[in-house]
Amino acid sequence: MSNRFLFLGTGASAGVPLIGCDCPVCISGLAVNQRLRPSGLLKLRGKNLLIDVGPDFRAQALCHKIASIDGLILTHTHSDHIAGIDDLRIYCLRQKKPMPCLASQESFEDLQRRYYYLFEPSQPGATASVRLDVTRLSQERGSVEFCKESIAYFSYRQSNMKVMGYKIGLFAYVSDIRDYDPSIFSWLHGVKTLVLSALQTASSKLHLCFEEAVLFAEKVGAKTTWLTHMNHSVDHSAMNQTLPPHIQLGFDGLEIEI
Ligand SMILES: [Zn+2]
Ligand SMILES: [Zn+2]
Repeated sequence: MSNRFLFLGTGASAGVPLIGCDCPVCISGLAVNQRLRPSGLLKLRGKNLLIDVGPDFRAQALCHKIASIDGLILTHTHSDHIAGIDDLRIYCLRQKKPMPCLASQESFEDLQRRYYYLFEPSQPGATASVRLDVTRLSQERGSVEFCKESIAYFSYRQSNMKVMGYKIGLFAYVSDIRDYDPSIFSWLHGVKTLVLSALQTASSKLHLCFEEAVLFAEKVGAKTTWLTHMNHSVDHSAMNQTLPPHIQLGFDGLEIEI
């Protein structure tokens, strides 16, 4: 079975369409212009590894019939990346064990504050809740074994939040990036498939815009770069036509071989 990556959500934090918006993209009705919050599913050697678990996770899991999840990989703890965490409960119940989770030490501490009940010992007779078994990354970069997969990580900051980029084999997932150490390019050297966030055409304080994302992608030199985390100013087909053929927009439901 080939290793694959499924885009579960390619939208920015508010999703597309934006609530109450009647801009051409939001009212286009086109499937490629409907973007749930950012998440993806890595299908590796028969395992399902979920990257981020945003507020649309339940809908994504139902849509793609995700019956099992072997581990959760978190980039960071902004709500658009973790707010669906309670819906992992059903997997813990069914799989009868805590959910393995890979996250930075900072993300772990933030999860403990905001989702304290995920870390409390379960009471006898109480309704089972999701429980996390967190592998904490305390270094800025390195590699770790998680769910029997070797995963390399590299950190950068989005404002005051630490974010992790991940590399598994020749596949890399780098989201919510704006400021980074230039050594990220040697870290990404040799990657064949890159998933990279790009918010919009206009520049942004927290994300790469398209122009910056294209420069970033060209520097990495992956065979294919898929952009994700787009907001409602981005029309799928119109934007794709302005991009080189090896750098294209992802869309919800797109599944690629990695
Ligand atoms: Zn709109
Ligand atoms: Zn985000």
